[in-house]
Amino acid sequence: MTTATIKGWCPGALRPMESGDGLIVRLKIAGGIVPLDLAAKIADWSSRWGNGEIDLTGRANLQLRGVSVETVPALRQAIAEAGLLDAEADGEAVRNVIASPLAGLDPGAVLDIRPIVAKLEGRLASDPKLHALPAKFCFAVDDGGRLGLGDVRADIRFEALATADGPIFAIYYDGGEDRRIGSCNPNDVAEAAALLSSVFLMHRERSGGDIRRVRDLVDTVGMRTLAGAGALGPKSRVARVTPAETFARIGVQSLNDSALPSSGEALGYLGIGLPFGRIAVGDFDRLVKSVGRYDVSEFRLSPWRAIVVPLSSLQSAHDLAGTLAARAFILDPTDPRLRVAACAGAPSCVHGTTPTREDATRLAALIAKGSFLHVSGCAKGCAHPRSAPVTLVGRDGLYDVVHNGAPSESPALRALTLDEAAEHLRQITTKHSQDGIA
Ligand code: SF4
Repeated sequence: MTTATIKGWCPGALRPMESGDGLIVRLKIAGGIVPLDLAAKIADWSSRWGNGEIDLTGRANLQLRGVSVETVPALRQAIAEAGLLDAEADGEAVRNVIASPLAGLDPGAVLDIRPIVAKLEGRLASDPKLHALPAKFCFAVDDGGRLGLGDVRADIRFEALATADGPIFAIYYDGGEDRRIGSCNPNDVAEAAALLSSVFLMHRERSGGDIRRVRDLVDTVGMRTLAGAGALGPKSRVARVTPAETFARIGVQSLNDSALPSSGEALGYLGIGLPFGRIAVGDFDRLVKSVGRYDVSEFRLSPWRAIVVPLSSLQSAHDLAGTLAARAFILDPTDPRLRVAACAGAPSCVHGTTPTREDATRLAALIAKGSFLHVSGCAKGCAHPRSAPVTLVGRDGLYDVVHNGAPSESPALRALTLDEAAEHLRQITTKHSQDGIA
């Protein structure tokens, strides 16, 4: 295997990435929908050809860690037999679509987005013109239901809205409401994505590659200029019906607060957080077997490092939750581990010098409610590449501290031991409570 086939910023099955614990093989599972028989195979692959560690990424992909140059061909063959292998590495690299985790199941959704997501993924994989997109370039398709994607970083986000004339998709560039650039019909999502991608690529080329993501494009060119791009529909004034933040992503949740739908579709779901997006294969296998005891054929991957299991009743969701160990799974929306992001760090990542996940586990209880801590192994900030109230940045086995900034920004404190960092967090939390900040 050549270096070119194993290096890369975003690993895939065709182009794994080298890390401190071996090769990372990311599985881009269509729509984030994982049939249970596929989940069982993934557990087997991790045991046989990986190191038994599985990540759930911020883009709702599963990735196997600790694969070797010797074992990757057998793994790739198994992935192909499971129907998950793309035709080519460039298409695999850009097939980055995050879908609403309850797609097709949520009675509160505007429409079933599964065929729309499948069409978009197919377009990205098969259109060579789009293969020039950066491998980190990402789309989100939001069905307008309970688990909204408004806070998910995606270069281009489509959000379903109900109008008197039927469903439409509002289109956003990376960012908030002020970055809505137009709208399109459900049948035109893939075409609109291709059009906006071509606009991005044109500006990227003109910039000599300096424009790497859509947020760079907006900063450089400006929304006013970009809003006129192509044949997109007008901005819609229709607001989202269901405020996503009112529905918890973790724990036992109702999918339909009223009577059982006559169709017999799921009434409840269980959001299962994986601490810092990592799970040991034994726990993953136990989860798959536990889920299999219910009338369930699949689970869903979410971009919040949580698995979503749709169930036929709330009682089943409670029963399933009762079988899962708190050590390995987060089932309580107030669990302090949800207030921390941590990357792989040392020894899993060659760039890390601190055991970020271990340290994050120790520090989680010190974070004030409503605040957020990012423990980053280095200034790249893979787990949370943006601003956080407090960011610890590993350097030479110690931590620098950035306040209200991204990991690459100038630190307020330098070279703290873990104990010193913990004391600093205690002081911040004490001040928060003295100031009456929740
Ligand atoms: S932030 Fe640095 S240490 Fe952490 S996973 Fe990314 S490259 Fe590795």
